[in-house]
Amino acid sequence: MRNNCNNCGERLIYETNNGPGINYALTVMIFFLNILWYWPIFGMSYKDNSVYYFLVTSIVVVILLQPWLMRFSRIVYLYLFFGFRE
Ligand SMILES: [Zn+2]
Repeated sequence: MRNNCNNCGERLIYETNNGPGINYALTVMIFFLNILWYWPIFGMSYKDNSVYYFLVTSIVVVILLQPWLMRFSRIVYLYLFFGFRE
């Protein structure tokens, strides 16, 4: 397969990027980290809907953090799978 299109020069080779995979791992990690501050402040119990309030709060936190999470996950991916040589 050619690297570039004959007519327009568009790159045809897929650039590997598993940043979204790392993003998922970080998202799950933040969900667990959210428990650390949510539980002492608001409390969680199986007797009421507090678990659902926690889930909604965590989802909002993760969505608000996305601009940084996307960049950070890409950086983590590059550090994990590509060695930087000096
Ligand atoms: Zn083309």
